[in-house]
Amino acid sequence: MIKVFAEGHDYFYEVADILANYCRRDEIEFLREKVPAKGRGLFVHSKLAADKDGVIAKCTITGEEGPVVQEDRFEPADGNALEVRKQYKRYVKHNLLKAAERFFRKGLPWGILTGIRPVKMIHKLMDKGLGQEEVLKHLAEFYRLDPKKARLGMDIALTERKFIFPNDPGKVSIYISIPFCPTRCSYCSFPSNQITRWGHLTEMYLDCLTGEIKAAGTALKSKGITCDTVYIGGGTPTSLSLEQMDRLLGEVRCAFISPDTREFTVEAGRPDTLDGEKLELIKRYGATRISINPQTMNASTLEAIGRKHSPEDIVRAFDLARQSGHNNINMDIIMGLPGENLGMVMHTLEHIGVLKPEGITVHTLAVKRASRLHEEAFDAAMVEESEVEAMMKCAREYLQRMGMKPYYLYRQKYMVGNLENIGFCFPGYEGIYNMQIMEERQTVLGLGAGAVSKLVILSEDRLERIQNPKSLQHYMDRGMDIVREKEEVVERHCHANCL
Ligand code: SF4
Repeated sequence: MIKVFAEGHDYFYEVADILANYCRRDEIEFLREKVPAKGRGLFVHSKLAADKDGVIAKCTITGEEGPVVQEDRFEPADGNALEVRKQYKRYVKHNLLKAAERFFRKGLPWGILTGIRPVKMIHKLMDKGLGQEEVLKHLAEFYRLDPKKARLGMDIALTERKFIFPNDPGKVSIYISIPFCPTRCSYCSFPSNQITRWGHLTEMYLDCLTGEIKAAGTALKSKGITCDTVYIGGGTPTSLSLEQMDRLLGEVRCAFISPDTREFTVEAGRPDTLDGEKLELIKRYGATRISINPQTMNASTLEAIGRKHSPEDIVRAFDLARQSGHNNINMDIIMGLPGENLGMVMHTLEHIGVLKPEGITVHTLAVKRASRLHEEAFDAAMVEESEVEAMMKCAREYLQRMGMKPYYLYRQKYMVGNLENIGFCFPGYEGIYNMQIMEERQTVLGLGAGAVSKLVILSEDRLERIQNPKSLQHYMDRGMDIVREKEEVVERHCHANCL
């Protein structure tokens, strides 16, 4: 248990974000009063005070071996109240991390950048006119980033800028959620519904979804807005029947696809939902990119995580996709799956490597609260943080030897080892939607249950999130309201961006 007393500030969330890298989040308790550190456990006292010369942040961490005290002086904060608060938060996190690094003898690779989009920060610094070296220095000094992570982020930002700039509010991206899967993976925290149990709702769901698709398409066309990228994800969209896929893809093509559309992705995630007919259909409707996601090529792990297919099924699905003409295939893999070791990761990389997909996205396992694995974590053979780090390194080196380059990166809460997810690909096969959704430079309309629309207001450097209901039933019950909301989002996008 870590007891925390904050003095001179109320940045509880930020403090917890840093400490959660050193203990479980539910072990952190905030105190209303400063009490002396007694008994077992740790006591953290984080204090912020300002005087005429600047701001002083002081953190004391007391454990059985005595206290570690870290005091730092910062420049006076400037700007409006919101900006001042942001700077104060950074001071508190910076100071706390320095104390924690000394106390626990462990640094954080991403420093105080605890959010999920570290590359977004690099873009912001570059937008301000900072050169590469200045950005790297800033990341190390202000955010305590490990130089290797800063360099990785910078390389990715430089790649992304070729695809996501200049920002054009006359274009949006589309995300469509199909929240059905054949079975539920143990690590899954998405709103995914098992098709064997909820399959009877797919027709009704498609009725609502196509209503939303038509409304969004009409609203966009009436404003002269085109779709830059379209992504059908989930869940596993290919859980739908051939006839349902036909209907869905027809509606999507009619509503959103135009000569301006640079990318049209369909997630064909699970091989147990794929056959030649579906893959040909997807190609016929003009999908430019699909994703077949093995996660691992080890049969015992696939079984343990609740995926009812074999590594051979993955190879079969991949070959069928090639035969159907798909020439941009991504494959997702996960580092740190329970029971896996470095040798098993190497096995996965080698067996996927011979298939030569155009992209491989390497995820680090995140044990989220909504997942079954979260409940089972204590029983499951969880992999040590240091080993997951070694797996990530091994994957990165392997893919780079293949000639792939990292092109997008994001982080999640509860990731093992405070690492990251990285999309690798051969140059020319970058997933543009992935970059847009991470860097938040373009409005994304999210359609379907659980989908999130992000309204980007470039002139104000601001973002609004509008979430559709996560539950299938709730989404379907609110059918007409959701259609109206989507029309309003398009209207607001135009108004806010002076279109
Ligand atoms: S395939 Fe993806 S969305 Fe479906 S259950 Fe597994 S992790 Fe969740």
